[in-house]
Amino acid sequence: MTETTIETGACSASDAEAARRHVVGSLRRANNLLCLWRVCGSAACRRARCCRGRAHLCAKRNDSLLPKPVRDFFLSFLAAQYAGASFDEFRDAMEGRDETNAFFAWRKACAGRSR
Ligand SMILES: [Zn+2]
Repeated sequence: MTETTIETGACSASDAEAARRHVVGSLRRANNLLCLWRVCGSAACRRARCCRGRAHLCAKRNDSLLPKPVRDFFLSFLAAQYAGASFDEFRDAMEGRDETNAFFAWRKACAGRSR
């Protein structure tokens, strides 16, 4: 990579592909953390009990189907990450909150049922 490409932000096709794979992997992990498979319209996701579709489409289509407190918990998680909060800070701030309880209840329910 030359100085010119660094200054303009340009990167090689393989760098771009690696970045795309990283984003897709992160999104798929988020989909799985939220158990989106449970409400997903894709039979492959529901059968596999994890995200098997195109991660960005699964997220976009299914996010609104999650219970609102579960979405709120995840948004708090993202906000804490963006703000640079540590895991311990996030846990302390979220402990005992309704959306925290809802998130873990949702995860537990998903672990016990196929749909
Ligand atoms: Zn899906």
